[in-house]
Amino acid sequence: DLILHNGEFIREEDLVISKEDRGYQFGDGIYEVIRVYDGNLFTAKEHIDRFYESADKIKIVIPYTKDVFHKMMYDFVEMNNIDNGQVYVQITRGAAERQHQFPTGATPVITGNTKTVERPVASMQSGVTAKFIEDIRWLRCDIKSLNLLGNVLAKQEAYEEGYFEAILHRGETVTEGCSSNMYGFKNGTLYTHPANNLILNGITRRVILELCKELEIPVEETAFTKTQALKMDEFFMSSTTTEVMPIVKIGDQQIGDGTPGELTRKLQKAFEARIQVGIKL
Ligand code: PMP
Repeated sequence: DLILHNGEFIREEDLVISKEDRGYQFGDGIYEVIRVYDGNLFTAKEHIDRFYESADKIKIVIPYTKDVFHKMMYDFVEMNNIDNGQVYVQITRGAAERQHQFPTGATPVITGNTKTVERPVASMQSGVTAKFIEDIRWLRCDIKSLNLLGNVLAKQEAYEEGYFEAILHRGETVTEGCSSNMYGFKNGTLYTHPANNLILNGITRRVILELCKELEIPVEETAFTKTQALKMDEFFMSSTTTEVMPIVKIGDQQIGDGTPGELTRKLQKAFEARIQVGIKL
């Protein structure tokens, strides 16, 4: 498979990245992951909009129009014959002698790759487990930054203890997962953290909120506590690769009857119906 480098598709062994690249030294860049179903980029526009918004928030200018960039992503997937998989793409502020302030004259560097990824069907059916971990990240989690140490350390702790994901919390308040958004159902209402600076507003999250509207499921974009999380009737997480993923156990405590809940399954079905209708550029 070819990789993306500044608008060109090249062989991986031909990629040259400077040791002075600010992505490498500072994590000074942002990224995006777009899902591919049956060769179509799912919610590509939303992902591309968020890519441009994240770049804008850290004052990196992407040197393409969104239309050109969209076509580039589409060509990338087609060229590598990705049927079901994902595109990863990132942009850094570029290479310059190391100094914290923005360098003058650095050119942003875009790299990306595609890969085949199957839907995690077995986990979606059985549900997964998660554990609470304190959210020690910075206060701009709305930016899809390459700086992921807070996420990485929490995921590693969860992984080492056999959990699929960490449920991050600031004090008592649940924010999101290391690489996912978090939701609970209580008495038929869906609760999830509001899309502010403390979470990444997931594209999957946006689709889920739309589906709730269609299904007439009430939604409260209101933060809930760890204690409330444990008392939810159903719990689940979402992301581009895990879709609607039931969480059936938090720590050693079972949620509901310890199997994926009815409303969660309803959302999974509605989501599945939605991903059949990917639109080609
Ligand atoms: N929150 C964080 C911190 C994430 O890394 C991700 C996945 N990139 C999400 C939420 C879910 O976002 P999306 O649905 O766009 O994949």
